Amino acid sequence: MSPSVNAPAATAACASPIERTLASRLSCPGVEQAEVVVIGAGPAGLAAAGALRHHGITAVVLERDSIGASWRRHYDRLHLHTVRWLSHLPGYKLPRRYGNWVARDDVVEYLEDYVRAHNLDVRTGVEVERLERDGSDWIVSTNNGTLAAPRVVIATGYNKHQHLPEWPGVDSYSGHLIHSGDYKNADRYVGKAVLVVGTGNSGAEICVDLVESGAKHVQMSVRTPPTVLLRDTNGVPGQALGVVFRHLPVPLMDRLWPVIQKTAVGDLSDYGLPLPPPGAYSKYLRDDVTPILDVGLVPLLKQGKVEIVAAVEGFDGDDVLLADGARIQPDAVIAGTGFRRGLEPLVAGLSLLEPEKGRPIVHGAETHPSAPGLHFIGYTNPISGMFREIAIDARRIARTVANGTESVAATAPDGAPKQAR
Ligand SMILES: Cc1cc2nc3c(=O)[nH]c(=O)nc-3n(C[C@H](O)[C@H](O)[C@H](O)COP(=O)(O)OP(=O)(O)OC[C@H]3O[C@@H](n4cnc5c(N)ncnc54)[C@H](O)[C@@H]3O)c2cc1C
Repeated sequence: MSPSVNAPAATAACASPIERTLASRLSCPGVEQAEVVVIGAGPAGLAAAGALRHHGITAVVLERDSIGASWRRHYDRLHLHTVRWLSHLPGYKLPRRYGNWVARDDVVEYLEDYVRAHNLDVRTGVEVERLERDGSDWIVSTNNGTLAAPRVVIATGYNKHQHLPEWPGVDSYSGHLIHSGDYKNADRYVGKAVLVVGTGNSGAEICVDLVESGAKHVQMSVRTPPTVLLRDTNGVPGQALGVVFRHLPVPLMDRLWPVIQKTAVGDLSDYGLPLPPPGAYSKYLRDDVTPILDVGLVPLLKQGKVEIVAAVEGFDGDDVLLADGARIQPDAVIAGTGFRRGLEPLVAGLSLLEPEKGRPIVHGAETHPSAPGLHFIGYTNPISGMFREIAIDARRIARTVANGTESVAATAPDGAPKQAR
C-alpha cells in the first residue's frame, strides 16, 4: 500500500477476509478501515472522491496504474469530443487556456491538478482484486493489503479490456493487426492501405488521422451504420443537443434520430452510410452504439478519401473477407471493435451485472438491495457526454453517502440500468 498506510503483514488469522468475523477483522493489523474506498483514479473515481471531499468525507482512491491511466494511453491527436465547459468534474473547472476541445495531455494534466486541488488520497500501483461483504463493511482485497469500508465506489472504467472478435483465420493474416486502443499515430501507416474496423468515435478519428498523415488508401468497415453528428456546428457543440435530447421519450427519439443526422450532416447514403434505421436510438441505448461526433470523417467520405466497406467476416493470408463476399488486401487492420468492462472478477458472486454485456444493473447513487453501500460510476455512455454525466453521478453518490442513506435501485424491465440514458 502507500507510505501513508500502516499495514504490517497480516497475521494468519487475518489472511482470509471471508472467514473473519467483523470483530476479529477490525483487530487485524493488516486491515485499514476507511470511510469510503474508490476503485480507479480515472475521471469517474476522481470525480466521486472530489465530490465526497466537498461533504468533508475522505475517500481512499486505489489505482492499479497511474492517475488518468486510460488517458495517458490514448492516441496522440485525441481531444475531448465534448466541449470543455460541459466536461469538468465536480468542484474544479477545466481551465480556459485548454480551449474548447481539450487535448489528451491537458486532460491528464487536469486530472493530476484535480487530485492536488482536492487533496485526494490516491494510492497508485494498488490493484483491487476482490470485494466481499462482511457485516456492515465491504472488504476490499488488493495486491497490496486489505481495506474495509461501509461504502465502496467502483470506477474501473468502461474500457478496461480491448475486445477483438474471434474472426476465423485471423492467425493467418499476413498484415499488421492492432486494436484501436493501441493506436498512437499514423507514422507507420504512411503510404500504406489501412482498413479501420468499426464506427465508434475512435475509429472515425483514426480514419481522419490516417488520411491527413499520408496513408495510401483508407477503408472503414461497417456492420451497423452509425449515427453521425457534428462535434460542433457554427460553434454550437453537438453535445449540447445531446444534453437536451437525452430527456425526451425513447420512442420520440427513435423517430427524431435519423432527422437529427440528416439535418446535421445530410444524407450519406451515396457514400455508404445510410441514415440510421428505425429503432436506432433504442439500439444505441441497449448496445452502447454511440453516435460519431465528427471531427472530419464526413468531408473525407464526400471527397472519396475514406471508402466504406462491408463488415469483416474473417481473414485468409493477405486477404480480409467481407460480409458482401469481397476480399480486400490492406497492409494493416486497426480494429475499433470495442472494449469490455471486465467487472466480473471484482464482484464475482454478487449478481450485479447484466449477463452478457457485463454492465452493472445499478448505477450512480442507486445501490442494489443485495449490495448496500456499493456504487458504480462511469458505466453508462449517454449522448450528453460521459464526463458531464460522471460529474452529475459523483455529486449524487456523495450526497447519498453524506446523508447516510441508501437509494435502492429500480432497474428497467429488461434489466438495463435505469440511468443508461
Ligand atoms: C478514445 C476515447 C475518447 C473519449 N472522449 C470522451 C469525450 O470527449 N468526452 C467524454 O465525456 N467522454 C469521453 N470518453 C469516455 C469517457 O469519458 C472516458 O473513457 C473516461 O476516461 C472514463 O472515465 P472512467 O474513470 O470511468 O474510466 P477510466 O478513465 O478508464 O479510469 C478507470 C481507472 O480504473 C483503474 N482500474 C481498473 N481496474 C482497477 C482495479 N481492479 N483496481 C484499481 N484500479 C483499477 C484503471 O487503471 C483506470 O485508471 C472517451 C473515451 C475514449 C476511449
